[in-house]
Amino acid sequence: MVQLSKRVEALTPSTTLAITAKAKELKQEGHDVIGLGAGEPDFNTPQHIIDAAVKSMNEGFTKYTPSGGLLELKQSIARKFERDQSLTYSPEEIIVCTGAKHALYTLFQVLLDEEDEVIVPTPYWVSYPEQVKLAGGKPVYIDGEEENRFKITPEQVEKAVTQKTKAIILNSPSNPTGSIYTREELQAIGEVCLKHGLLIVSDEIYEKLVYGDATFTSIAQLSEKLKKQTVIINGVSKSHSMTGWRIGYAAGDKRIIKAMTNLASHSTSNPTSIAQYGAIAAYDGTQDPVEEMRQAFEERLNKVYDRLVQIPGLSCVKPSGAFYLFPNAKKAAEMTGYDSVDDFVKALLEEEKVAIVPGSGFGSPENVRLSYATSLDTILEALERIDQFIAKKS
Ligand code: PLP
Repeated sequence: MVQLSKRVEALTPSTTLAITAKAKELKQEGHDVIGLGAGEPDFNTPQHIIDAAVKSMNEGFTKYTPSGGLLELKQSIARKFERDQSLTYSPEEIIVCTGAKHALYTLFQVLLDEEDEVIVPTPYWVSYPEQVKLAGGKPVYIDGEEENRFKITPEQVEKAVTQKTKAIILNSPSNPTGSIYTREELQAIGEVCLKHGLLIVSDEIYEKLVYGDATFTSIAQLSEKLKKQTVIINGVSKSHSMTGWRIGYAAGDKRIIKAMTNLASHSTSNPTSIAQYGAIAAYDGTQDPVEEMRQAFEERLNKVYDRLVQIPGLSCVKPSGAFYLFPNAKKAAEMTGYDSVDDFVKALLEEEKVAIVPGSGFGSPENVRLSYATSLDTILEALERIDQFIAKKS
C-alpha cells in the first residue's frame, strides 16, 4: 500500500462528521434519530437567487471565470462591505473562493511557513487548527473562559505572542459558542495585534445572525490601521442559506489577495461560474429573506434556550449569534455515571437516538454543541429525550 503524506496522516478526523455518520447508520437501521449536528440553515435558498443562477446558465455563463472570481461579483461584494460596514475595498482587495472554508485554507497556505504560529482561541471551529497545520504552521491555543462568555482577553493574547507568531483568528459571532465581541473588546485585542504586527484573520461568516441587544462589529471597522492588518473572511453560506453553492471570499491587503489568487489558479481554477451569478443576486437583490431567517432563528433560540436550562446537569451561556447552543454538560455526565462528556454523548445517541456534537472537537471537552438549524418541534423533542435520559440514569 502506498504511504500517505505525513501532513494528511496527522489530520484529526472531524468529530462532527463522526457523529453524523453514526446517526446516519442508526437511521438506516430504522431508528427514529434526531440530529442536532447540522452546521447549515434549514431554509431553502431564496428563489430570486436560484432564478439568477438558472438565467446565467441559459445565457451561457457556464465557462471558466477569472480564478479570483468574476469582477461583477467582487464589485457586488465591495458594495456589500460599503453598505453594511462602511468599509471600502477595491476588487483587487477581494478574492472569491469555493466557500469561506476554502478562503481560509488558501489564506493559511500563502501566509505560513514551517513553525509559524497562529493564535487560535478555544472553543474553535474544528477546521482552524487542521488548516493551520496543513500549511505547516502551529496552532497556539488560548482559552476563552466560559465565565467570560468564551471570549479571550487582550492579556491572554499578549501572553501567547512569541517571535514566531504571525496571525490570530477571531470568529465573531462564534461557531460553536454564539458569542459576539463588542467594539470595545475588539479595540483592546486589536491594540495588542497592532503592537506585535499580527495579521488578524476575522471570520465573519455568521455576521447576519445576531440576536437581542447584540450588534455585529468587524475589527476592520475600528481604524484604518486595523483594516490594513486584517483579512476578513465571509460568504453567503449562512446568511443566504447557500451552503451547497460554495461561495465565500476574503478581503484584505492586495499583496495577500494576489498571492491567494495565484494559488487558486493552480488549485480550483475558479469558483463555480453559476454559483457566482447566484451570489451577485444574493448581494444585489432584496435582503428581506436574510432578515426573515434571522428572526426565525432568534425565535427558536429563545424557546429552545428556556427549555434547555430547565434540564438538570446542563448549564448554558445564552448565545448572542449564529445557530448553536454550547451548554456545559460536565455535571450531566457525572450525574449519569459517565467518565467524560464524550461518553455521555455516545450513550445519548445509542440509547435515546439524539445526535449532538461533543465539545472535545472544538477544544472544549466539558461542553456539547446543539444546532437549532432545524424545526422547533424537532429540537424540543430532542431536549425532552435528553431530559429523560439524564433523569433515568441519575
Ligand atoms: N467559518 C465558520 C466559523 C463556519 O462555521 C463555517 C461553516 O460551518 C465556515 C467558516 C465555512 O463556511 P463555507 O460554507 O462558506 O465554507
